[in-house]
Amino acid sequence: MIIYFPCVTTFVQKVSASVALCSALVGCGGSSGTRPAAPEEPPAVASLSPARLPPTMAPGPGGLTPVFERGPATADKTVALTFDADMTADQGPRAASGERFDNPALIDTLRRLKVDATVFMTGRWAEEYPDQARAIGNDPRFEVANHSYSHHAFKAPCYGLPALGRQGMAADVRRAFDAFRTVGVRNVVPYFRFPGGCYDDDALRALAAAKVTAVQWDVVGGDAFATDADAVAEQVLTGVRPGSLVVLHCTRSAAPVTEQAIRRVVPELRERGYRFVKVSELMAAARGT
Ligand SMILES: [Zn+2]
Repeated sequence: MIIYFPCVTTFVQKVSASVALCSALVGCGGSSGTRPAAPEEPPAVASLSPARLPPTMAPGPGGLTPVFERGPATADKTVALTFDADMTADQGPRAASGERFDNPALIDTLRRLKVDATVFMTGRWAEEYPDQARAIGNDPRFEVANHSYSHHAFKAPCYGLPALGRQGMAADVRRAFDAFRTVGVRNVVPYFRFPGGCYDDDALRALAAAKVTAVQWDVVGGDAFATDADAVAEQVLTGVRPGSLVVLHCTRSAAPVTEQAIRRVVPELRERGYRFVKVSELMAAARGT
C-alpha cells in the first residue's frame, strides 16, 4: 500500500518552525490485523458515555493493544471520516497569540451536511477549546476519541515530535480522557490514535493498561498544510473504498482547506452510494455485531 506524506514535502519547503506542527498533522503507516472481539467488560472510559457501550477489538497476542485500520468491504458502502483535533502540549503560547488550532466552520459544515464523524481530540485541545469540545461531544452526530494529551510521539522518530517514555504512554492517554471528563465531553469512545500514526509493539504493549483500541486509517486525506481543496478532495475520492477510514484534520492553522474539501467530498461520495458512519459503526461491522 502506498501512503502519501504530503506534509513531509511541505515541511522540506518550510521553515523549521513548522516541524512540530507538521509532525502533528502528518500521517504515517503502520499495520496490524483486525480481529473480532467477543463482548467484554466496558473499558473504564465507557463511564463517560453511559448511554452505550462502544465496540472494541480484542487485544492481540500477549495482550497487545489492538489496531483497527478499516471496516469490512461490504455491499453496504460505508465510510468513516475522522478528524484529528491536534494541539501539542507546548503550543499554548501560540494559541494565546492568536493561532487557531480549532476549526468551527468544519464542524458546522459536518452538521449542516448531516455527516456522522469521529473526532480524535488531544487533551490539550479540549482544554484550549472547552466549549467546542463539549459541543462536539454533546452532539450525537459525533463521537470523541483520544489523540493523546500531549501529542508527543509514542515511537521515535516521528516527524520531530518529542518522544514520550514508555512509562508515560498510558498516563498520557489517561490524562486526555481526564481532560475530556473535566471539560464535560460526552460521547467519548475508547479509541486512540497515535500522534503521527507512529507506533510499534512496545507502544502497543505500553498502552495495554489503557484498554483502548488503536485506530489508524486506510485513506490519507492529505489536508495537512494543503492549500488546494480540490487536491485534497481528489485524494480522498480516489482512495475511498467501502469500509474505508479516512484521516483528516480539525485544525484550522495547519489544515486550512479541509472544510472546503469536505463540501465537495460529501456530495460526491453520496452520489456513489456511500453512507457516512462513525468509527464505532465500522468497528461493529468488523466484529459482525
Ligand atoms: Zn495528530
